[in-house]
Amino acid sequence: MQRTRVVVVGGGVSGLTTAYDIHRLAGRSVDLTLLESGDRFGGLVQTVNHAQGVLEAGPDTLLARKPAALDLCRELGLLDDLKGLDPRSRDLYVAHRGKLEALPKGFFMMAPTDKAAFLRSPLFSWRGKWRALQEPHIPSRGVETQDESIAAFVRRRFGREILERAAEPVMAGLFLGEAESMSLRQTMPAFLDLESNHGSVTQGLKKLAESRHAQNSKPAFVALKNGMFALIKALVARIPKDCLETNATVRHIQRRSAGWEIGLDDGRRLAADHLVLACPGHEIARLLSGQLPELSDTLKQQAYASCATVTFLYEKSATKVPQSSFGFFSGKQEGGSLVAANFMSGKFPDRFPADMTAIRAFVRCKDEGAGSLEDLAHNSLKRLGLVSQAPKHTFLFRFPRAMPQFEPGYHIKLKRIQSMVEQHKGLHILGNALGRVGIPDCVHLARQAATQILKEVDLQDENAVGEAS
Ligand SMILES: Cc1cc2nc3c(=O)[nH]c(=O)nc-3n(C[C@H](O)[C@H](O)[C@H](O)COP(=O)(O)OP(=O)(O)OC[C@H]3O[C@@H](n4cnc5c(N)ncnc54)[C@H](O)[C@@H]3O)c2cc1C
Repeated sequence: MQRTRVVVVGGGVSGLTTAYDIHRLAGRSVDLTLLESGDRFGGLVQTVNHAQGVLEAGPDTLLARKPAALDLCRELGLLDDLKGLDPRSRDLYVAHRGKLEALPKGFFMMAPTDKAAFLRSPLFSWRGKWRALQEPHIPSRGVETQDESIAAFVRRRFGREILERAAEPVMAGLFLGEAESMSLRQTMPAFLDLESNHGSVTQGLKKLAESRHAQNSKPAFVALKNGMFALIKALVARIPKDCLETNATVRHIQRRSAGWEIGLDDGRRLAADHLVLACPGHEIARLLSGQLPELSDTLKQQAYASCATVTFLYEKSATKVPQSSFGFFSGKQEGGSLVAANFMSGKFPDRFPADMTAIRAFVRCKDEGAGSLEDLAHNSLKRLGLVSQAPKHTFLFRFPRAMPQFEPGYHIKLKRIQSMVEQHKGLHILGNALGRVGIPDCVHLARQAATQILKEVDLQDENAVGEAS
């Protein structure tokens, strides 16, 4: 009997996780192939070991509240390499009128939970503070509210000033998007829940903080000691080499009476019973355009933002970086393309020489005409008084169309995408095409897909399963 054939397109964390699970659980009873167009695995995940430090091109931390990625790390033997980071114990800054101001203690994205610290903050006016403190008295819109933009939600509950001086810069830094056109339900669903479950975001956060305190609060984020690429390496090491290909670009896909045909740019054609598309949504739209036009058109409508990260290594004596902070956000009121920066040598002190300060700037790419991204980022840091000399080393990583932008009402579109995918037997879509932006959510979805595929696989060869484990 022919083995079930599974082809995974895309060797980022999503595709590798599905491939890892399939091999772990089914071994050689599945004919598995993963095709990656680049010359390395990892996609957006890339750690560079430079003589002057360990650099992260893209993701550097995992949100601990969402356990999927941590569970996977544990399973892969990386538990001892996970290190907790807790921004709640550090000051978070925002750029305001050309200088850095700390967000007050207990301030959570938009919500002031420590009234005394909030009232002392120089970041907000008295009027702005008074308005924000009315939040517990603003009526809730109820459980089944329509989605709304993050900006509309913050204005409604906390007022315009909190939006402009705190929430908007934080959201722009995290999602590279405009708060006015970002879906609250898709990007920050916890705030909707707080409003509907507790009637107030501030009150809800206080209650959660009390119960977390009672349970001995854990770090909010964790990082892998040697960088995020350790996760990719561990996944690749557990999948047989003959199942994995780099420099293998999928050019087209065809629906066949039984299964799928996958055409590569070198002219090869592969057949699959299950096709897992683990590449960005815009690429999936292209691959499916001739075959499933409705699904392709819906995915095509998804907007993506492009960004770059620029890591600078400065001599410590040439920098003035707040020691108590991991970084800052910079909103549109400040102008410029810099949306956020991490003080990497403070965040990961073991990764850099003691006489160097490492700063990683996040730059939006749409205003690139204005000069090189490196100059734009360095000059922004200089204007903020953080650096006084040119960097000793600069590392630029570009991420074209990497950050999906979810507009209000996206959840309706997502349901449509899911139901269209379900209509096509053997088709599976992962990652940002299904509204996922962080590694924990990507891992969760990838493992779900593997489980679904394996339900349909006849695990006949017991020895093969043994071989996989
Ligand atoms: C700057 C930045 C910082 C981030 N920081 C964090 C963070 O700190 N924590 C966090 O949890 N998340 C973070 N994220 C998000 C996280 O990186 C992504 O959610 C995750 O890496 C997505 O993985 P993926 O496998 O779904 O997609 P990708 O990593 O995009 O992988 C898709 C792969 O498909 C390949 N591919 C594309 N087309 C084809 C084709 N035709 N044929 C074959 N292969 C193809 C690509 O080469 C790529 O390798 C960050 C993202 C960015 C851009």
